[in-house]
Amino acid sequence: MIIRYVFGRPVPPKHPTVLKNGKISHNKTADTTAALYRKACEDNDQPINEEYLDLLVANDTEKWAWKYDMFGASDTLSAALYDAQMYQRAIATSSPLPPKNAFACDMCGWRTYCEADPMATNVENWDAVKQGKPPATIKIKYGRNMKTIKRDRKGFVVSPSELRNFAKCNRQWLLESHWRIQRIYEGTKSLPRVRGSLTHQCLDDLGKAKMDNSDSPDLLTTLRLKVHDMLSKKDIDEEAFAALIEPDSLQAIADTAIRMFALAMDGVEEVIEHEQRRILKMPGSKKWLHGIPDAVVRLSNGQIAVVEYKTTSSTKNLPGLADRYRTNPAPHLYAALVQYGSKSF
Ligand code: SF4
Repeated sequence: MIIRYVFGRPVPPKHPTVLKNGKISHNKTADTTAALYRKACEDNDQPINEEYLDLLVANDTEKWAWKYDMFGASDTLSAALYDAQMYQRAIATSSPLPPKNAFACDMCGWRTYCEADPMATNVENWDAVKQGKPPATIKIKYGRNMKTIKRDRKGFVVSPSELRNFAKCNRQWLLESHWRIQRIYEGTKSLPRVRGSLTHQCLDDLGKAKMDNSDSPDLLTTLRLKVHDMLSKKDIDEEAFAALIEPDSLQAIADTAIRMFALAMDGVEEVIEHEQRRILKMPGSKKWLHGIPDAVVRLSNGQIAVVEYKTTSSTKNLPGLADRYRTNPAPHLYAALVQYGSKSF
């Protein structure tokens, strides 16, 4: 089984600076693209500097989207399942107020909350926090019928993200996975998350169109409608809306999704599944693991690949980011769900 990570950075590239003497800047660290540089030269009647253009072309291949394939061998999948099972047991037997992991607080968004209310006694009144959605209903085939998997017992049905929360910090698991509370991000602080989720929605549209053999969707129009809808539902505020609705901003999201999808479909013969939830009964146990791989594809050499999309608004070094994700167990668990599990409904 192949695990295919596809990374994208859905932020608008900067337009090259036009210097006072009318020349176009050749700043090597400028966050621009070869296409924007060519256009700036054309608009300002300036010759193209081939050396600078080559640098931008090279940057284009790894600053905006990047693909990383690795082999998910069966012993690696088994090891991921073993670790998952151990964490699942620990979740099931955890105390009502699991301990904090203060060693991880400096990298955690809950830091000020845990610092101000270390025993979470006043969690109902925490500022800028909202209740998340209830867990999705999961049904499986049971003979000729369907059976709903109960999700009320902790640790009984877990996803890779729930396992990640517990492994990073038991208290984080309590807040995000058990109590299901979320932090509210305001203004431009919400943009990385919103851009990521809009890119995923574009990838979803592209994937469905590919599976249905239908025309490529009009991503820009869909994005415009979606952003207006988010504002009317108060999912984003006016400041975030103003930044998102800029034509460059929506175009960057659509362009990133198109680049990422092209990388995901590299050498693909067939899209077998797209955002299909899968579930697996853990070996020798009555507990379940579930998850939704972004896509499952068959490559032209016959191999099956699990595709996992990731977006970032911070780093430009997507190959470096890919290396950090190399040992993340989530796609290995998705691969195990595809190899040994079944579809859920
Ligand atoms: S949730 Fe855990 S890691 Fe995060 S701030 Fe609280 S104790 Fe620290």
